Amino acid sequence: MPQKRDSWAEPYKIKMVEPLTMTTRGQREKALEEAGHNTFLLPSELVYIDLLTDSGTSAMSDRQWAGMMLGDEAYAGSRNFYRLEAAIRKYYGYKYIVPTHQGRGAENILSQIMIKKGQFVPGNMYFTTTRLHQELAGGRFVDIIVDEAHDPESLFPFKGNVDLDKLQGLIDQHGADKIAYVSIATTVNMAGGQPISMANLKALRELTGKHGIRIIHDMTRVAENAFMIQQNEAGYGTKAVAEIVKEICALTDGATMSAKKDALVNIGGFMAINDWDIFEEARNMVVVYEGLHTYGGMAGRDMEAMAIGIEESVQDDHIRARVGQVFYLGQRLLDMGVPIVKPVGTHGVFLDAKAFLPHLPQTAFPAQTLAAELYVDSGVRAMERGIVSAGRNKETGDHYYPKLELVRLTIPRRVYTQAHMDVVAESVARVYEHRDNITGLKMVYEPKYLRFFQAKFEKLPK
Ligand SMILES: *Cc1c(COP(=O)(O)O)cnc(C)c1O
Repeated sequence: MPQKRDSWAEPYKIKMVEPLTMTTRGQREKALEEAGHNTFLLPSELVYIDLLTDSGTSAMSDRQWAGMMLGDEAYAGSRNFYRLEAAIRKYYGYKYIVPTHQGRGAENILSQIMIKKGQFVPGNMYFTTTRLHQELAGGRFVDIIVDEAHDPESLFPFKGNVDLDKLQGLIDQHGADKIAYVSIATTVNMAGGQPISMANLKALRELTGKHGIRIIHDMTRVAENAFMIQQNEAGYGTKAVAEIVKEICALTDGATMSAKKDALVNIGGFMAINDWDIFEEARNMVVVYEGLHTYGGMAGRDMEAMAIGIEESVQDDHIRARVGQVFYLGQRLLDMGVPIVKPVGTHGVFLDAKAFLPHLPQTAFPAQTLAAELYVDSGVRAMERGIVSAGRNKETGDHYYPKLELVRLTIPRRVYTQAHMDVVAESVARVYEHRDNITGLKMVYEPKYLRFFQAKFEKLPK
């Protein structure tokens, strides 16, 4: 292993820069008004530091850019597909691979094949697109994450763990054949980027194995999860992140991947599965929804960049700097006394909007409000992860009221500097200082699916 430094400083230097627009408060107020107080609807040109998402926003390495020039854009059998397939087998260990344009493309195909109408899909909390595809396929999501995950104050280091009693209860009540599969995310995005422990995953494997239930792995941030296991789980301190990643994958039967996160590319994804029959069906279906089974909606060059990105993503030095930067921002906010989800997650810092704006009821959209205020203050763009993201219960038509009402400051990989993190922390602190003057929002336009992307709001009067 390379020698450890105290600082998390980056294992790379900057070779190309992208200038940013500096805006005035007046310009930002106008832009926010036009965007209906929804940060998703802001033009990125009017954003200074963009922490909307870590999805597809990574900086690629010079090796990845060089790989782009090696794109084989043949319709069928592109050599980049075989490179990608080899990288997935080598670093993740799954047998069969179906490329897709991004994670949700894989979720669509997998859900349609593996879920029968009326079946349950238990998971360690939900993710927006994942649950929607499960529901569209006729499944019913059941949250089996540990209770600690719903408590932003709990310091439990593995808040992504499954509560095995909750799963056992579901099996006892409905029978194993009513469970399509168990859906496990590494890390759990909606809980604030929280990891699952290897011990919990092993116990889950044992329990599901007894009942013949498969585990499907939402492996979007598996390297970050592996890093947290290395840091905090007994017996893993001397193992390389790459080794731990492979061990996680080996405990599951298949996966969906949004390569726009961990794997350091701007677009791409795949479905992986160890079962030949499911693979055959998926390979057939991908042609309908994504493209031929050797490109799945990606260009050859995209697949090449992904193959290289996967390799870079599991290097200890890379992941230590990536998560180190997120922890740096988290620690600054903690030192300032700002309420955030603890422990700090691996891909972002999550502001606890209920504690930040305790005078706002959840129906006044506190997290949506806070994200809007932050943008006006400094041009920092964040994202709501609360009642707007949670959507509505299909049966009752009412909002879901999630316990967690969060604003996500998501850090793109290899993009911003420590000074940028300081600007963000200072802006959050400024908004916190005048929090008592902040009024909530009302929703004036609501799309049917994944409403948080396009919903519009107006400011409530004082
Ligand atoms: C981003 C994400 C997805 C969906 O992937 P896309 O590439 O955005 O379609 C699924 N699960 C998790 C946990 C994610 O973060």
